[in-house]
Formats: sequence, C-alpha cells, structure tokens
Amino acid sequence: MKRQELLVAALQNGTVIDHIPSNKLFQVVNLLHLENMSSAITIGYNLKSQKMGEKSIIKIADKFFTDDELNQLSVISPNVTLCTIKDYEVVEKKEVKTPDHLTGIVKCKNPKCITNNEPMQTVFHVIDKEKGIIQCHYCNNEQNIDQVTLISD
Ligand SMILES: [Zn+2]
Repeated sequence: MKRQELLVAALQNGTVIDHIPSNKLFQVVNLLHLENMSSAITIGYNLKSQKMGEKSIIKIADKFFTDDELNQLSVISPNVTLCTIKDYEVVEKKEVKTPDHLTGIVKCKNPKCITNNEPMQTVFHVIDKEKGIIQCHYCNNEQNIDQVTLISD
C-alpha cells in the first residue's frame, strides 16, 4: 500500500468514494448530505494521485449508497469511484456513470419553467454524454452539466 493511502484510516465496513477532484470535494459532501450523518467520516483532501495529480477521498463507515445516489455524484464528478468495504475487504468497486436521466438533482435555469414554479421534481434527459449536455423534460432548455445548479446547493 502506498504511503498516501495510509494517511486515511482503514475502514471495516462502509463506502470509500475515491478520485474526487479536490475542488469538487465540498460539493460531494453537500450532495450526499454528509453533515447529517452520524457515521464516522474520514476525509482525505489534496492527496497525491498518479492519475489525477491531486485527488480527495471520503470514507464513510457503515454507509452503502444506492444507484440513485451514485447517479447524483456523476453530476459533480464523472470519474469518481466507489468501493464497498466489508470486513476491511473491497467487495465491490463501481464507477459512477452519467445516467440517461437526472431526476430531482439539477435546477432548470429557465425561470419560467414549471419546475421553478410548482412544487415538483425536475427531470433532465442527458442528450449528449460526451459533451455533457442535458435537456429539461418540461421546457426543453439545454444546459451543460459542468455549469448546473444543484437542487441541494
Ligand atoms: Zn425547464
């Protein structure tokens, strides 16, 4: 094990969110509502990474995420990886993938859109995954996934 990895304590059971761009770390914390969790959370910030230069990592004890929660993370950072840990072993490794639809995650930037005027969930279709273009289901407004405002912000 590399020395940098040792800086973050080992986890008996839970989830490791790895390869988070350091400038996105606090968005990930917000989106997953980590501030409301009672689990032990370890955050490694600005760790050296061969792949990324710098990365951040979050370890959350006794917490396992649903696919829905994973999809939300792709809005912030498409390259994060999630490891499920049981008894100190990695039992599953998932890459976050951009989903076909985003439900209740992103705000529509069109102030006249029904989703900004009625108490309802937003729905976006991901129309170009490579360029990260999403389109509002209700008003057809397009926006870039890098510039979205999240509902949780
Ligand atoms: Zn809209």
